[in-house]
Amino acid sequence: MISFETLKQNYETVRNKVRDAAIRSGRTPEEVLLLPVTKTQSVEVLQMAYDLGMRHAGENRVQEILAKKDQLPSDLDFQLIGHLQKNKVRQIIGHVSLIHSVDSVELAQVIEKEAAKADRIVPILLEINAAEEETKFGISLDEALPVAQQIAQFPHVQIKGLMTVAPFVEDPEDNRKVFRDMHEIFIDIREKRIDNVAMSILSMGMTNDYEVAIEEGANLVRVGTGIFGPRQYNV
Ligand SMILES: *Cc1c(COP(=O)(O)O)cnc(C)c1O
Repeated sequence: MISFETLKQNYETVRNKVRDAAIRSGRTPEEVLLLPVTKTQSVEVLQMAYDLGMRHAGENRVQEILAKKDQLPSDLDFQLIGHLQKNKVRQIIGHVSLIHSVDSVELAQVIEKEAAKADRIVPILLEINAAEEETKFGISLDEALPVAQQIAQFPHVQIKGLMTVAPFVEDPEDNRKVFRDMHEIFIDIREKRIDNVAMSILSMGMTNDYEVAIEEGANLVRVGTGIFGPRQYNV
């Protein structure tokens, strides 16, 4: 398990890099949210993160969120960043502040149905497969606008922005164009001023490439190993 000291140092290092990249991109540090990705990390590690001041946790599995949430302070904000199966929608509604991974109108429709039943409005991001990788979930860049227009019709689903998982690359510079394309479509959709579509969150950049993502306009970066070290798959 990572030590408190190492976690503290990693967090400070990442926070400083986020701050510097925000300033390089002409923004204030407060305009970029660092979402610590805590998947596979134990409740003890999440509690240490909380004690260091972290108040957000990105997780990719519904069961894991539900299991951890009860054991941690109630003001720790969970966000779902991983693929969401339709049959898990009912369980997760009300337990996360944002679902980053809505990748089809059909999934949004299920969220609409369950959110209406629960009398809630569910904030979501559209997951975009910006590099058109066959192995990844997500809507193509070309379909982002029409899909947003369709989902905008659902009164209990609120589109807050876009998310992408960029390709795995050695050199983060290789993802700069992906991030730039994402930012462009983000601005395009925003300028359409579609009812019920906010386009305020652009979630992109992970441990390997979050600085480049911020330089290209990300305002939410999802950082796991850079803060917590290697994932703990046996937990
Ligand atoms: C695991 C994960 C991350 C964090 O990845 P790191 O490379 O450890 O920073 C970010 N986004 C998503 C969608 C993930 O599944």
